[in-house]
Amino acid sequence: MTDTRNEDEHLERIWRMEEEGGGSLTLLRTHMGKDYDPLDIESLSRQGCLEVRGDEVAFTDPGRERARRLIRAHRLAELLVRDILGVPDFEAGACELEHLADTKVVDGICTLLGHPACCPHGLPIPRGDCCRAGAREVTSVVVPLTELEPGKVGRVVFLEASDEREIRLLGTSQIRPGTELRVRQRRPCYVVDTGTAAVALDEAVAATVKVLPLG
Ligand SMILES: [Zn+2]
Ligand SMILES: [Zn+2]
Repeated sequence: MTDTRNEDEHLERIWRMEEEGGGSLTLLRTHMGKDYDPLDIESLSRQGCLEVRGDEVAFTDPGRERARRLIRAHRLAELLVRDILGVPDFEAGACELEHLADTKVVDGICTLLGHPACCPHGLPIPRGDCCRAGAREVTSVVVPLTELEPGKVGRVVFLEASDEREIRLLGTSQIRPGTELRVRQRRPCYVVDTGTAAVALDEAVAATVKVLPLG
């Protein structure tokens, strides 16, 4: 029996295979194990989402768009469940949410989270209209650390550091998702308390740390 939810799982898997460099129906079957269903593949090609030739499988444009929306909802839901709701086992919740949320809700979650680039696994989150509209014009609940006044506390939701050096620096300073930081001072450089240490950061690096203000 095929239903939309099972079809969605196949589309998401094919998306993951593409991210990892491409694949085939054989590989898809290996990845999905008992969840693989040839009837879902058949139904998806009938709907014009997939093109199947022998063992080759590829998205059509509408198929790719449907998969992109699912992946986006899934990866944003992972962040939402882990960082805002504080549930460490974020996988189960994320899997349910991706099928329920419509584009408006998903864009709302994206905005709330400050338009994050990656999910907790470090995989890219496909962009939405909300991200293109300009992250700075909309109100996000998650803000750069540089927006917290001295004395305020924020919980790190994600790091947007762009180079390896910055990421290592933040990691060795115990600044990672889940850490609560209290801002001590903003000038002449940023100093935050991590609970175990005081860490000095320059403003550019502090701006890459996205936090949920806790008061
Ligand atoms: Zn993920
Ligand atoms: Zn966005």
